[in-house]
Amino acid sequence: MSTAVIYRPLPQLGRFLNQCGPTPLVPVQLTDDSPLVWCKLEFLNPSGSTKDRIARYMLEKAWRTGELQEGGTVVEASSGSTSIALALTCAQMGLHFVAVMPQGVSHERVLMIRAYGAEILFVSQDAGIRGAIEIAERYAKQHGALHTRQFENPDNAEAHRLWTGQEVLSQIPRGMVHAVVSGVGTGGTIVGLHSAFIQAGCQTIPVAARPVRLCGDGQHRELECCSFSTRVPGVVDGISKLYTHAALPGLREIDVDEEDALRTTRALIRKGFPVGPSTGLNFCAAEQIARELGPQAQVVTVFADRMERYFSTELFADVVAVAS
Ligand code: PMP
Repeated sequence: MSTAVIYRPLPQLGRFLNQCGPTPLVPVQLTDDSPLVWCKLEFLNPSGSTKDRIARYMLEKAWRTGELQEGGTVVEASSGSTSIALALTCAQMGLHFVAVMPQGVSHERVLMIRAYGAEILFVSQDAGIRGAIEIAERYAKQHGALHTRQFENPDNAEAHRLWTGQEVLSQIPRGMVHAVVSGVGTGGTIVGLHSAFIQAGCQTIPVAARPVRLCGDGQHRELECCSFSTRVPGVVDGISKLYTHAALPGLREIDVDEEDALRTTRALIRKGFPVGPSTGLNFCAAEQIARELGPQAQVVTVFADRMERYFSTELFADVVAVAS
């Protein structure tokens, strides 16, 4: 019998707070010949992404310990989803939120964050997310704000271990997960889910999906070179301590061509899943490992965020062309 501790949100923080999770876990098979993958529909959370979980968990923890009080200020460096989730959660909890992000994130993201009443500080594209982290740290010191530090805060992974992971275990047949697949931003998703499944007695293979850009063309394309792609927002290369310091025994890394990730995202949308590019990435890598492990294996991945925040990006280039 499982002795897992399950996270229970603080009910007294506000009447809207209990809307986050549980999300459905559904089996998805894109064509008759493709393998089946178990998909956690995290885009159904209130701000439209799985980051609502970590926003809630990190802020509630700080609230319980007294680090954060009504009217307080929260600051975070994030290129998108975490900022949107924190902006919504802070709005619910009566807190002020300051997002620090590199210039160049999609217009929709900026609008969403501001609509929730949050403030945005931009750093240059060259400074990137590392520059944003430095500014967030300085802001927290100067203004007495809580810096949630998603790239190193263990509560990020804990939210997925105690909350998302327990949901999956109660939803999947026989509570059995053979592989868990996710693109890595902070690493909170893969680290937390993997640890939940291992603690429940599964021998789960952790699989990191990496978006790559292939050079060359035609049949020589793959042979020539490949580098980390920046066309899948939220998935970044090697900056997170939470991920690099985590123990992930048997870790597999599956490289997915960025074009395949975008094509798969569009295919999932056409099936009625309103998802963003990192979901296409996750799904491609999940199909690959599911094919490898065979039809008995139960492979889990995350449908991380909603498509609406990408309307102005290349993901919808073909849709816009038809409409105009
Ligand atoms: N997908 C999206 C859309 C994201 O924004 C992120 C993280 N910022 C991820 C996937 C990766 O999740 P994690 O940070 O838990 O590794």
